[in-house]
Amino acid sequence: MTRTHLVMASANPDKVAEIELLLGGVATIQPRPARLGDVAEDGGTLEENARLKAVAVCEATGSASVADDTGLHVDALGGAPGVHSARYAGEGAGYGDNLAKLLAELDGVPPGRRTARFRTVALVRYPDGSELVATGTVEGRIATAPAGTGGFGYDPVFVPVEGDGRTFAEMGDEKHAFSHRGRAIRNLARMLTVRA
Ligand code: IMP
Repeated sequence: MTRTHLVMASANPDKVAEIELLLGGVATIQPRPARLGDVAEDGGTLEENARLKAVAVCEATGSASVADDTGLHVDALGGAPGVHSARYAGEGAGYGDNLAKLLAELDGVPPGRRTARFRTVALVRYPDGSELVATGTVEGRIATAPAGTGGFGYDPVFVPVEGDGRTFAEMGDEKHAFSHRGRAIRNLARMLTVRA
């Protein structure tokens, strides 16, 4: 089987490691060249943002590129923070600020109404303009207080329904088995195998 050569659109080391691990069998992965900076993620959907990143890197390098974009969708907040998950508490907000805002917005919402899901879109863009688009979702609920030190972002308050009541931040690498990004990237790996 021919392995596709892919340039990563993300420079986030956590993501790069996970994507290399999951796609390594079907593609050769090249890190994003240092000369390329971050792309403004101002699309209206996760798919648009993933495409913005992949197109920028594909055009700059002339190689196929892989990008992903994730949102946390909370039912009691009408799907927020969604596509705005990285900047929920404002431009320049860190993980802690976003998490504090989420808990404040959900203050008083009972456990049964704190349902949420992470959704990831993973996208490969080829120089001829064609694409592969894969998605992954994990259902869960938002805890009333943070727990755990692993992971990143909203992990300390996200309790997946498939788990045993621990947050993603309490799980360490176990998270990858059923995480949104793990699922999206594994789906993408299957699509790459079919296309190759
Ligand atoms: P990105 O599109 O993957 O950069 O994700 C956008 C935002 O969603 C991040 O800044 C994090 O706050 C959050 N996020 C993405 N993936 C995860 C995850 O696996 N756990 C917790 N939060 C995440």
